[in-house]
Amino acid sequence: MKRGLFFGLFCLLLTGFASPDWGFYGHRKINRMAVFTLPPEMIGFFKKHIEYITQHSVDPDKRRYATKFEAVRHYIDIDHWDVAPFEKVPRLWHDAFLSYAEFLSISETRDTTSYVLPCHFLEGEYSTLPISCDSSYALYYDLIQSKYYDDEILIDASSLQAFSEESIQFASNNIVVVDHFSEYGVLPYHLSQYYDKLVKAFVGRETKAILRLCAEMGHYIGDAHVPLHTTENYNGQLTDQVGIHGFWESRLPELFADDDYDFFVGRAEYVEEVKPYFWDVVLASHSHLDEVLAVEKELSQSYPQDQQYCFEERLEVTIQTQCTDYAAAYHGQLDGMVELRMRDAILSIGSIWYSAWIDAGQPDLNNLDSPLWTESKEENDELEKQYKGGSILGRNHDNE
Ligand SMILES: [Zn+2]
Repeated sequence: MKRGLFFGLFCLLLTGFASPDWGFYGHRKINRMAVFTLPPEMIGFFKKHIEYITQHSVDPDKRRYATKFEAVRHYIDIDHWDVAPFEKVPRLWHDAFLSYAEFLSISETRDTTSYVLPCHFLEGEYSTLPISCDSSYALYYDLIQSKYYDDEILIDASSLQAFSEESIQFASNNIVVVDHFSEYGVLPYHLSQYYDKLVKAFVGRETKAILRLCAEMGHYIGDAHVPLHTTENYNGQLTDQVGIHGFWESRLPELFADDDYDFFVGRAEYVEEVKPYFWDVVLASHSHLDEVLAVEKELSQSYPQDQQYCFEERLEVTIQTQCTDYAAAYHGQLDGMVELRMRDAILSIGSIWYSAWIDAGQPDLNNLDSPLWTESKEENDELEKQYKGGSILGRNHDNE
């Protein structure tokens, strides 16, 4: 049996035990260390809540069991899009969404007409709406955003008329808006939206929101530093390397980070333009992708087959995972890449927390109400229940 297939099948048996993303270990470590990058005005508050920031770094992964909309926030398939000149991946969310949105008018006799905006990037035959792309911001936020999380995005046909000088005649009263973009990941857009929320939380001095958003932004920024979060070949499934996702981002840090890595990364820096910055992060991650895959491919072909996978006891369950020596060989050949990506993630998280605080006018964090809030136990219990009992809705990086 092919190694990849064997390992993939084995992983399927272990769904509940696989570590998502940097692994719970990695996310917790990264968030925790980010606290130590902060300036004196911030560090007291963050140290006081360092356990919250650490533990809740993994909530977004747990939420992948609760809603299908969560999974897409953890990645962006840069290579799905024609990224060389980048023009087919608009950097603003409403542009990206609408460039790949299809507007379906379905008549009573079930005849369907499919419309697009003039600035669309979809391939195929469509009718073009007489709506200027200059109105895409208003069009998205007035008509679509509040319905983004509905199972079907349904808008009044007549509401589109407000965006056109020409009269538009549809064969139906409702229009179904089909999203062809999100399934390939929305990570950098989601980070931008979260950033705005975090600034607001700092402005409002809302302790609970500040902590929750900081913990969760730490998670998404962590994901953005992982090369395999920027590709359609996210688990090596297209190159017969199934399992490489967890190998690179969970197994390697778990084996080597505590002893070998230096997590003191210096001081957080102010980021002037966060939206392009988030793109820079995912593109930098993507630039390492070829190496991540090529090194493992070559090693797996030259290393003795029977010494690549070993059985280990975890929580009284026997699992199969990459042998320590094999992992050490891969780790060595990557020449510090995993440590560097983790270090960059730590500095990046601290810098984003710091920048949001600066953009919020540097509110005094020392005299916020304390103990400030009590965590909603119900919310937490519900998340825990779904995580432990469920299966991931949408893409599961480790096990597909
Ligand atoms: Zn994640």
